[in-house]
Parts: sequence; C-alpha cells; structure tokens
Amino acid sequence: MLVVPLGGLGRIGMNWTLYGHDGAWLLVDAGISFPDEGHEGVDAIVPDPTFLAPIRDRLLGLIVTHAHEDHIGAIDRLWPFALNVPIWATPFAMGMISRRLEEQDNLDAVTRHVFNVGSSFKVGPFGIDTVRLTHSIPEPVALAIHTGAGTVLHTGDWKFDPDPMIGQPTDKEKLRRLGDAGVLAMLCDSTNAHKDMPITSEAQVRAAFARLFATRKGQIAICCFATNVARVASAAVTGVAAGRKVALAGRSMRNSEAVARSLGLLDGVPDFLAEPAHLKGLGKGEVALVCTGGQGEERAALARLARGDRRFPSFGAGDTVVLSARIIPGNEEAVEKVVSKLRHRGVEILMGTDLLNGLPLHVSGHPGANELRELYELVRPRFALPVHGTEMHLTAHARLARGAGVEAALVTEEAELIRLTPAGARVLGRVDAPLLHLEADENGDRVPYRPRMALG
Ligand SMILES: [Zn+2]
Ligand SMILES: [Zn+2]
Repeated sequence: MLVVPLGGLGRIGMNWTLYGHDGAWLLVDAGISFPDEGHEGVDAIVPDPTFLAPIRDRLLGLIVTHAHEDHIGAIDRLWPFALNVPIWATPFAMGMISRRLEEQDNLDAVTRHVFNVGSSFKVGPFGIDTVRLTHSIPEPVALAIHTGAGTVLHTGDWKFDPDPMIGQPTDKEKLRRLGDAGVLAMLCDSTNAHKDMPITSEAQVRAAFARLFATRKGQIAICCFATNVARVASAAVTGVAAGRKVALAGRSMRNSEAVARSLGLLDGVPDFLAEPAHLKGLGKGEVALVCTGGQGEERAALARLARGDRRFPSFGAGDTVVLSARIIPGNEEAVEKVVSKLRHRGVEILMGTDLLNGLPLHVSGHPGANELRELYELVRPRFALPVHGTEMHLTAHARLARGAGVEAALVTEEAELIRLTPAGARVLGRVDAPLLHLEADENGDRVPYRPRMALG
C-alpha cells in the first residue's frame, strides 16, 4: 500500500492524503491551509491538482472524514473544474459541501455518495469501514481502509468526548475489533500529542453556558466556530432556559444550522430569531447572540458587533462576549484588535481559556497524550504515521507511539511517497506536488479555480 500525505505535516491545514493499491488511488480529505503574512490577497493554499494528471484515470474518488475547512475547504474551489472525482461523505459533511457547490451552481456537475456514520462500502480495491468518533463538529469518522496488503486506519480529527451533545460517543468497541483483526498502520491526529490533558466534553461547556446565562443580567454574545453545532445548540438551549431570545449571526452559522436542522441534529433545540436585529429593543437580560468571528475576521459578525453595526444590538458596559474557541496561531493580533474595541465600549470579554466557576468555556476537539495512548491500546497498529501537526507535534506523537509499542513510527514530510508492507514502512521518495495560492474576490467571497487544463 502506498501513502502520500499532501499537507498537514509541518503545517496546519491542507490535509490531503493519497492512498494507492493495486494500480488504483484514493484521496482522503481535501482541505485548505491559510496563508502566512506576506501573501496579500491570498485566501487559501491547496495542492495544485494538475500534478495528479498522471494518475487521474486511476484516482477513484475522495472520501471526507469531516466538514472542517482544513479537510473540505478545497472542494468548492477545485471541483468540478480542476478536479472532478466522485466524493463520499456523511450526511452532514455532504450537506455542507453541497451548499457551497450550490452557491456556485456546480452541484450537478459533481458525483456525490452519502454514507452513514459506521457504515462500510467499497471503492475499487479499497474496502472502507467507517468508525464513529467525536470531535468539534457533527459526524466525524475514522476510515479503516482495507486492501490485499493490509489495513490502514486513517483517524481524521478526533477526541474521546464521553458526552458530545450531538451524536454518540466514539465507537471504541469497533476500534478494538479492528485492532483484533490487525491494523498495519495508523495515520492519526497529532494536534495535542505533546500534552497530557484531562478528558473534556461539550457537556462541560454546556454547563458553563448555563451558569453564564443564569448569573449575568446584561446582553451576552457567544462566539464559536459555525460548524460546532453542539456548541451552538448548547448556547441556544441554555439561553432559552434562562429566558433569553437567541439569534444567530453570520452566513456560515446559518448554513451549518440549516444543514443540521435538515438532518434532525437540532431536534429539541428551539428556533432562533430570524435576524440579530430582532434582539434590539429587548431587555438586556433577554438578549443572547451566537456569532462567528472569533478569529478576528474583519467581515465576520463579532467585528461588526465591535464596530457598532446597526444590524446588531449595541453592546456596552454590563454586557459579556465569550470567545468560545481556541485562537488559531497567527490570528492573535486580529483577535486583539476586535477585543480591544469591545473592551473600550465596556464589554467584559471571557476567553476560551477562562473558567467559569471551574467550568470550561471552550474544550479542544483533539486528543491529548492520554487519549492517544488509549487509542493505541485499542487499535495496536504495527506502524504509526503521525499527521495533522507541526514537526514538534509529529515528533511528540511518534515518541508516544513508540512508547505504546508500535514497531516503527515515521515522522515524514509532505509529498513523501511511503510504502507500507507487512515487512515494513519505508519512504520511497518524493512526489513533485506544487502548491496553488487561491484568491478571494473583492467581497471576500471564495472564487472557484479554473485551470487552463481540466483534469476531467
Ligand atoms: Zn483538522
Ligand atoms: Zn477537524
């Protein structure tokens, strides 16, 4: 079995992985990475798909592990014009992908297969078993990829959340059964591999929100990632329980809500007000806003709120804004700019790292070292290929994997061609995979990329 990681190694984002067996190829995830400073106007970085031309006829499709930008963000930019292989995804992930394609009128040009969490299917010589996980988005799955040469477990992003609020906890029994049957190699999330962390849960964040709404009299805004549907639901349920009206702000927030509602993931969660402007005129203790923009994005809802945009209730002294997310490295300055405007207005800011009566206002969606060790005990792979992290994360993960008893843990680089056989795991060489810098239009909207030569 051949593996080519394109992205996610030594960089955050752009997680693409190619698997090859018996002349056929499969792509797992197609995300974007965000540009460093000094790339003015560049909105996203992706592998240039033209390098796939030599294997295009044998590339059978793309399977998606979950709907985060660093795993699906390249799809609406590259499909169908630059690359148009069939896509397999869960109902939620496919819903999110489809909305984007639909906005560009490209939906019918892409072949889409929906699979349910936990189901199995076949793509050419690859037998796929999907495994239910927990993360910070609905329906994350690991993929057990079975071939004549052995089984690889591709975890995608995960954690062990005992009470994820939406969906069921991780299917540890299935992971153990895969381990019993024998796993040749595991490609696994390294985000928090360097630290031991307590097991955390979305249920704790819900408890923190309940406490927040119950004890504060002013207006409250909670800022989180739009795709963290469990957290949006927690804000809605606890806000309404405290007698508040809840509005969502941000197009991506409304997109996620629409997909989640259509799939029944928000059953029992009260409807939101149609517009944040409808919060105006209510008593301060009746206002709850759930919004995007926690990374300091200038056009997102939180920045508008901070600027005093008339479409939002006016926030000032006595009001609270909660940044219920981790600030992605590189965004600190942008976040500080927005936050200082709010502080200047007298708004109290609670950060994701803050605790409220000992309860977390944010929990990570990735496994700490202790959770990784438990996964290695369940799956018992012969070889470990740490992915999804910078070199520091990958090295810490490799050390942990060796301690957990793997025969070899390989810290590889992007575009390296790795061969896995029962005899060993070895880097054969490097693939020439250039990167593409994609731009947004003048409104900040994503523009599909149209290459001179389409890959069909
Ligand atoms: Zn990720
Ligand atoms: Zn993720």
